[in-house]
Amino acid sequence: ATFLPVAAFMIQDPTVEAVELERTFIAIKPDGVQRGLISEIIGRFERKGYKLVAIKLIVPTKEFAAQHYDDLSSRPFFNGLCDFLSSGPVVAMVWEGQGVIKYGRKLIGATSPQASEPGTIRGDLCVQVSRNIIHGSDGPETAVNEIGLWFKPEELVSYTKNDEKWLYE
Ligand code: ADP
Repeated sequence: ATFLPVAAFMIQDPTVEAVELERTFIAIKPDGVQRGLISEIIGRFERKGYKLVAIKLIVPTKEFAAQHYDDLSSRPFFNGLCDFLSSGPVVAMVWEGQGVIKYGRKLIGATSPQASEPGTIRGDLCVQVSRNIIHGSDGPETAVNEIGLWFKPEELVSYTKNDEKWLYE
């Protein structure tokens, strides 16, 4: 696996074999918050075995939303998307674990809930592409950029979780 240095680190516990881990940015969008799906979404990442290393509730400004989605600025839905993301509280998070960037996207499902498999977050919990309740970084470089946009370095908490020795050999 090739992880960018900022996203990768080694488990410190000497009884655990070194595993390359990575971090991804996950956000519960305003619709997910308003619909009472925070614990449902966090629970899915938590039960999988991923580790929460940063979390905060914020109402992004429209300018901030535009920065987050700047790669989509030429798309017809861009303005509505930025209005929507800035319309209420967002749960911004960083999750850590082996393969979390790619597998986090699997947990989330396809961009359109209509194309998302049952069992995925979007497949199970929402209907429309413009109200798809969750964001997840789409690759290692995006993960580093998005974590840097939403969080200060000191807001990321490095800690050992007791279940790591049962999750990683
Ligand atoms: P993803 O969130 O799955 O990474 P994209 O980066 O392509 O998907 O798009 C970002 C967000 O823009 C989507 O999650 C969705 O909320 C919104 N979006 C994407 N396509 C459309 C569309 N055709 N109409 C309205 N909103 C869209």
